[in-house]
Amino acid sequence: MLFTIRDAIDILIVAYVVYRVIYSIQGTRATTLVKGLTIVFASSVVARALSLRTVSWLLDQATTLFLVALPVVFYPELRRGLEKLGRGQLFGWMTGRGVGQQEFDLEAVIEACSRLSAKKTGALIVFQRQMGLHEFVETGVRLDALISTELLMNIFEPNSPLHDGAVIVTGGRITSAGCVLPLTDSQLGGGLGTRHRAAVGMSEQTDAVIVVVSEETGTMSLAVGGHLRRYLTEARLKEQLNFYWRGGETS
Ligand code: ATP
Ligand code: MG
Repeated sequence: MLFTIRDAIDILIVAYVVYRVIYSIQGTRATTLVKGLTIVFASSVVARALSLRTVSWLLDQATTLFLVALPVVFYPELRRGLEKLGRGQLFGWMTGRGVGQQEFDLEAVIEACSRLSAKKTGALIVFQRQMGLHEFVETGVRLDALISTELLMNIFEPNSPLHDGAVIVTGGRITSAGCVLPLTDSQLGGGLGTRHRAAVGMSEQTDAVIVVVSEETGTMSLAVGGHLRRYLTEARLKEQLNFYWRGGETS
């Protein structure tokens, strides 16, 4: 059998699709499931190699059960995926210009941040990039609202029910508010508390870009790749957010 260019293209396409799938389920609840599936599959290969008939029968049944359960458990994700396909956005996802690249109202976000900063109202806004943030979205209250300066200000208004925690922005919409983010263990110094810790922690665990407005000082910071850039001016914040959100690499 000859290995043709066709085979090479075939393999490359499959490898790329697998890579994109792994990349986009990182940080979502699908990751745990894929790990489980891999363990079951690997055990079943080993069991078969050792000719453990009953064990491999059991594992085969488990695999079947898993495959049947998959569409049920991931009904929302599958549905969203198919809808995307229908709207012709799958190509965008394939080329890595998925949800993060959808247009969103950057001006409204910047305006909200600078007004919150002037009022010294604390804020924490997470912008999803390539990696899914499903597990964090679920810790808050689902909104699925269009971004506006007014809504962001309203959410972070002290004493309002949603002001505590983080807002998560996915593909131009506010997905949820009041979300709990993972705290970093690293030393931040400079009198920075849990809000900044949560921003840095989130940027360590995911590829998201996080904007923090300090309640104590009103300063605006941006966390990405485990680093916190502090004392940003409105112009600098806009430039940085635009850069990272459009797929700029973490330095
Ligand atoms: P600031 O400069 O605004 O005071 P800070 O870094 O000093 O910020 P804190 O004063 O501890 O932080 O801010 C507390 C607020 O941070 C909480 O009211 C809550 O809204 C938010 N926060 C704390 N922990 C988390 C978390 N794990 N996930 C999301 N938000 C959090
Ligand atoms: Mg504080």
